[in-house]
Amino acid sequence: MYVIPEAIIGDHISRDDCFEAVEQVFASMAAKTAYNFPVIREAIGHADALYGFKSGFDRNALNLGLKSGGYWPDNAEKGLTNHQSTVFLFDADTGKCSAIVGGNLLTALRTAAASAVSVGHLARPDARVLGILGAGHQAAFQLRAVAEQRKFEKIVAWNRSPEKLVSLEAVSNELGLPFECVSVEGLCEQSDVIVTITSSHDPIVPSHLVRPGTHVACMGTDTKGKQEVDAALMGRVSVFTDQIAQSITIGEAQHAVADGSLREIDIIELGAVINGAHPGRVSREEITLFDGTGVGLQDLAVAATVVERACAAGTAMDIKF
Ligand code: NAD
Repeated sequence: MYVIPEAIIGDHISRDDCFEAVEQVFASMAAKTAYNFPVIREAIGHADALYGFKSGFDRNALNLGLKSGGYWPDNAEKGLTNHQSTVFLFDADTGKCSAIVGGNLLTALRTAAASAVSVGHLARPDARVLGILGAGHQAAFQLRAVAEQRKFEKIVAWNRSPEKLVSLEAVSNELGLPFECVSVEGLCEQSDVIVTITSSHDPIVPSHLVRPGTHVACMGTDTKGKQEVDAALMGRVSVFTDQIAQSITIGEAQHAVADGSLREIDIIELGAVINGAHPGRVSREEITLFDGTGVGLQDLAVAATVVERACAAGTAMDIKF
């Protein structure tokens, strides 16, 4: 069994690798050759933590396993990231554990890759302004990955605590892109692509502010009760997702489906667009929205890539188990 510690993950996977792995997984899910098992996510009644499992099986890639972990809100004070996760891979032929892989950086990379895949397939080709709501741990990863998908000329950003936006400003400077801190109104007014990556439990983006032609990637809502955009927005746009079952239960669509603004049958899997079974965006004016809930198969795919690379580089620890 191989062990790939968190500290070396970044040496063995790039944003391009993650984009490719996540795009392939979404395509396989839509083709029904890969499927996720129901998500377990529980408040454990200790340290205010949310803990759970995401798991699945990809019959073509033979990726079988799970990501175990969750959210510990007080970790930042301990010098740790609030999200803690570990990926376990199993041999699909025998069930033996084949690898344990640090999942923290991979989670951020695969989540950013999911919104990048959505932007790659759904945003207008001439999108020039990227708006980000949120400035927590995930936000800079989102910015870097999405910025690669179009010829963006400007980044605008909003956060509940605006002083935290310095981290995004630093990334924008690194990318050579002008950066502006704005209100939610200002962000919607300027942005061609909007990424929401907060842990909000109430809508931040009102429906009427989102302009025709915008692509919105809702990435923060991955649990029952969270919400980032007005439910009414979901009823007037084309809604795409990684997985419909998660979208309507733990994703952004949970609220719109519950209040009747959106029907489950109108939600499209992004994989169907990747596979060519759905046309995706069909006009300049259309508003497209990706409800990225985060699926276990994304974790397995990027972890499998890391294992392959680390083994080839001789950096994977081989443990008799
Ligand atoms: P974090 O704790 O580092 O940052 C949280 C962010 O949310 C901050 O910008 C904070 O200002 C903002 N925020 C919190 N409460 C808010 C509120 N009520 N209104 C507006 N903004 C608020 O978290 P993170 O690691 O950056 O993760 C952000 C979100 O993304 C979380 O909800 C997390 O669960 C989710 N997430 C989703 C996926 C996925 O696959 N979809 C993967 C990882 C994380």
